[in-house]
Amino acid sequence: MSAASPLPTLSRGSRGLMLEGVALADVAARFGTPVYVYSRAALIAAFEAYRHALGERPASVCYAVKANANLGVLSVFAALGAGFDIVSGGELARVLAAGGRADRVVFSGTGKSRAEMRQALLAGIRCFNVESAGELERLDETAASLGVTAPIALRVNPDVDPGTHPYISTGLKHNKFGVASTDAAALYRRAAALPHLRIRGIACHIGSQLLDAGPIVEAAGKLLALADLLAAEGIHFEHIDLGGGLGIRYRDEAPPTVAAYLAPLLGLFEGRSEELCFEPGRSLTGNAGLLLTRIEYLKPGEEKHFVIVDAAMNDFIRPALYDGWHGIAPVVARTGPPRRYDVVGPVCESGDFLARDRDLAVEEGDLLALLSAGAYGMSMSSNYNSRPRAAEIIVDGDEVHLVRERETVESLYALERPLPRG
Ligand SMILES: *Cc1c(COP(=O)(O)O)cnc(C)c1O
Repeated sequence: MSAASPLPTLSRGSRGLMLEGVALADVAARFGTPVYVYSRAALIAAFEAYRHALGERPASVCYAVKANANLGVLSVFAALGAGFDIVSGGELARVLAAGGRADRVVFSGTGKSRAEMRQALLAGIRCFNVESAGELERLDETAASLGVTAPIALRVNPDVDPGTHPYISTGLKHNKFGVASTDAAALYRRAAALPHLRIRGIACHIGSQLLDAGPIVEAAGKLLALADLLAAEGIHFEHIDLGGGLGIRYRDEAPPTVAAYLAPLLGLFEGRSEELCFEPGRSLTGNAGLLLTRIEYLKPGEEKHFVIVDAAMNDFIRPALYDGWHGIAPVVARTGPPRRYDVVGPVCESGDFLARDRDLAVEEGDLLALLSAGAYGMSMSSNYNSRPRAAEIIVDGDEVHLVRERETVESLYALERPLPRG
């Protein structure tokens, strides 16, 4: 479409907005709204940008599943040979169900349960990114009880400020994530002494929606210093995992390209033997998808005018939670004069908005595309207000694949029971 669209495979034709070769109006007519629509070509292009920038260097790209955990999306990455970064046993099950390989899975997260550890050990994952001393001991015990050895890295908190939203910065001293870099060396010595652990590497993840490479380069420098310190004691790393976090353009942000983001890191690692790992989420799926919604009502007011759509904060919470700004594009453009609107949903909360103060020429029944919705959209959705969650579609050329059916209302309370009468 216009130069303003951050979604590379979105265009405007005589039938309105097209994603790859598919008219969004046709998707809405066939599957209803709200519906998430992802572009397979855009997913592939985003992944290949990493692979291309990494070139011949030993490196792996482990897609952060929590950004978009749909099996269809995971299967696209699995087919490309991706690894996966998971944060729960549920995500591990999804990766395996989508055809991903366990030996390419890294397991992050501050609260791994014993059951999750057993599940991941039995599956044979590549590495646990351990986030505390307690977890280290528990993992050793759990591995011992199964008679196996657990591959580990410590997730180190490098105490750098990623300059992003406080809810999505994770590498500062006051964050709950990782072990303090001042404690890391002692914990590695402890890990080396535990019989059922095998040290594989070191990891960090400093935050999300990073718009320049400075903070990650600083963090990488701290990890390398630790690696060299420990190497002198005979503790060696096979890989160094720099996490995810590369930002995307929602509005007018100017994140570095993947190549520009990786270039200084590749420079820093030149001549080193460790494999480099990355855990991108948002930068692989964010601009590969949109949320398609239909206008239910136009509600003019004295101070504000509202467009009330059939998608809501339960479907897409980034605006309410992070003040996220997302482009809104009418699927079929109208010529009338625009009016300034807030785009809101049917949920009973004042925080239920998708966009504010947008100039739109629209009528009741029109379709709107909420752009850059491929990451932290469906994966953060809920059933608040007993709203069945949206369907999900992947388009591929002129083909349309339903990769998640719309939920039914009955399924929402299928696990519940009323108390017996009397
Ligand atoms: C969320 C997360 C990621 C992905 O972050 P993005 O900003 O989506 O790239 C990677 N690693 C870990 C440990 C995470 O928690």
